[in-house]
Amino acid sequence: VLENDANGQALAEYRFGAGRGSSPLAYLNLGTGIGGGIVLDGRLYGGAHGLAGEFGHMIIRPGGPRCTCGRHGCLEALCSGPAMGRRAREALAALHPQERAATALVQRAGSRAAVSGPDLTALAAEGDALSLQVLDGVFTDLAIAIANIAASLDPALVVIGGGAAGWAPPLFDRLHAQVRRHCLPGTQELVRLAPAALGADAGILGGAAVFLER
Ligand SMILES: [Zn+2]
Repeated sequence: VLENDANGQALAEYRFGAGRGSSPLAYLNLGTGIGGGIVLDGRLYGGAHGLAGEFGHMIIRPGGPRCTCGRHGCLEALCSGPAMGRRAREALAALHPQERAATALVQRAGSRAAVSGPDLTALAAEGDALSLQVLDGVFTDLAIAIANIAASLDPALVVIGGGAAGWAPPLFDRLHAQVRRHCLPGTQELVRLAPAALGADAGILGGAAVFLER
């Protein structure tokens, strides 16, 4: 039986990557969806039913956008790659057509409809004001999720992978600042974040790590 990707990546980051020796380790993968995994005492923690670490389906905004699970306002519906693209397109829809056409987002993507999550994060990293404004909304939701993970798991480290592993350091700092705003008073400096270190190799290494664990 293959472990789901995010669990394998979590274990790989713990064994070989950004989270070497950090336990408990919480892992979040921001991609087409949002996967998660928990490593506790050096092993994957699956919970009673193998459902632990389903961070993508924590409800962050009741009544928010519909999620792939059928509910509304899950982290995945707010902060996955496609959700980031949708949030950027929604912000553009609110602009006057001429103003919209002149935005860096539309210039880069070619049209409003083509604006994607990677367009948003690339332009935010370059300091584009509209992109940063949209991304700050994304980061608020992601920070609430991380603060909830911190309050329930007290992880030694939260590793963020997938598209987020390639974010420019200033974007990571911006997310970290939001996390500090949302975590329990007095615990701000205890919640540590790191980008995933293994990138695309994590899947293969994760499979190996899971295999070695047996
Ligand atoms: Zn969901």
